[in-house]
Amino acid sequence: MLIFKKVLQAIVRTSVRFQSSGAAAGARAASATKASHGGFSFELSDQQKEFQELAKKFAREEIIPVAPEYDRTGEYPVPLIRRAWELGLMNTHIPEDCGGLGLSSFDACLITEELSYGCSGIQTAIEANSLGQMPVIIAGNEAQKKKYLGRLTEEPLMCAYCVTEPGAGSDVAGIKTRAEKKGDEYIVNGQKMWITNGGAANWYFLLARTNPDPKCPASKAFTGFIVDADTPGLQPGRKELNMGQKCSDTRGITFEDVRIPKENVLIGEGAGFKIAMGAFDKTRPPVAAGATGLAQRALDEATNYALERKTFGRVLAEHQAVSFMLAEMAMKVELARVAYQRAAWEVDQGRRNTYYASIAKAFAGDIANQVASDAVQIFGGNGFNSEYPVEKLMRDAKIYQIYEGTAQIQRLIIAREHIGKYKQ
Ligand SMILES: Cc1cc2nc3c(=O)[nH]c(=O)nc-3n(C[C@H](O)[C@H](O)[C@H](O)COP(=O)(O)OP(=O)(O)OC[C@H]3O[C@@H](n4cnc5c(N)ncnc54)[C@H](O)[C@@H]3O)c2cc1C
Repeated sequence: MLIFKKVLQAIVRTSVRFQSSGAAAGARAASATKASHGGFSFELSDQQKEFQELAKKFAREEIIPVAPEYDRTGEYPVPLIRRAWELGLMNTHIPEDCGGLGLSSFDACLITEELSYGCSGIQTAIEANSLGQMPVIIAGNEAQKKKYLGRLTEEPLMCAYCVTEPGAGSDVAGIKTRAEKKGDEYIVNGQKMWITNGGAANWYFLLARTNPDPKCPASKAFTGFIVDADTPGLQPGRKELNMGQKCSDTRGITFEDVRIPKENVLIGEGAGFKIAMGAFDKTRPPVAAGATGLAQRALDEATNYALERKTFGRVLAEHQAVSFMLAEMAMKVELARVAYQRAAWEVDQGRRNTYYASIAKAFAGDIANQVASDAVQIFGGNGFNSEYPVEKLMRDAKIYQIYEGTAQIQRLIIAREHIGKYKQ
């Protein structure tokens, strides 16, 4: 493993550190603001272009050629995940003092968009690590961070975010998994569902109810834990057969008298709901970046096809109706990109970005579906066939309107944030 150079790490070390005082926060801020230093700018820094180029090369040369086969078999893409890890293209949020790169949210999103362009199923498997890590990054103590985040930088291990249950997804406060304190441990019983990396994770972030009183507010009723995957009583279920992103590993997880030491509680009893929801502000921008990458791929495929396929004596792109479809698709992709970059940039400024994160996630999720569906339309009959790339994109796109808060839940959040401003 050591013979591989962590390419991204090398880029960071040579081009960012000179700007910072050596502190992780300094490096992060430097990488985040370099492009916009001195005012508003859409120009990426040289370093950001290098991140983007590395991810693009990996996606085009190593992911795209094998993605259809992973889609067909549903096999978990272990070699690609290892390779992404070796290149430093995963776990990009892990702070430097835990062995990670501590990249800004903006920079990490640039990478995510390119990976998703290659295959959003593979990107989801990689990105789910960031989702699992985020509660530990925002709420873990030093020992927890060093142990659990550090582990992921030493080996290409996976982690997962374990919140949804068969009876409660959007309504997170409705989850029933119970954690009861007995001495220095918590005993957990319950059932989780739809957990990405569920069968591959080395550890999980778990949200469980610690206060059984139904009148207890959500802000105090739940606790966040880190759970090692090999803890007795923790049992992943079968791999779910999903419509798209088929190689991503999604499973239910059963907890039966699972004993978690109190050292693995994040912050303290009752703090879990805020931690679990707070993580989304940081993870929704990359989800939106993933949706944008998929949409860009659909646009590229449709445009190339429209420049080759002839009907009525001319290429499709010369029919105005088709060229206007391409124009609409391009408008949507450009705006989704701006939306995720704004949401990520807000994170890097240290500001509360709930509003922007939900706008980006909702918009990019919706347009990925529209653009992929339009790409299928432009391909005609071929678009409906698995020999061509766009039917996979249409299937893969759907999940962007469902996971990490559905399209409807994003609108609830945006409306709450928007109307709230007028009530102040
Ligand atoms: C492939 C996949 C991967 C996933 N990965 C993870 C993961 O890693 N970790 C994890 O914890 N979870 C994960 N999830 C779960 C995902 O976040 C939930 O499926 C999602 O939040 C929706 O919850 P639900 O399925 O229970 O739908 P429900 O909450 O039952 O919603 C059903 C429908 O009703 C709508 N709806 C619900 N409430 C309202 C309302 N108040 N107003 C308007 N409309 C509403 C929803 O938008 C949706 O359209 C994953 C799911 C899938 C399918």
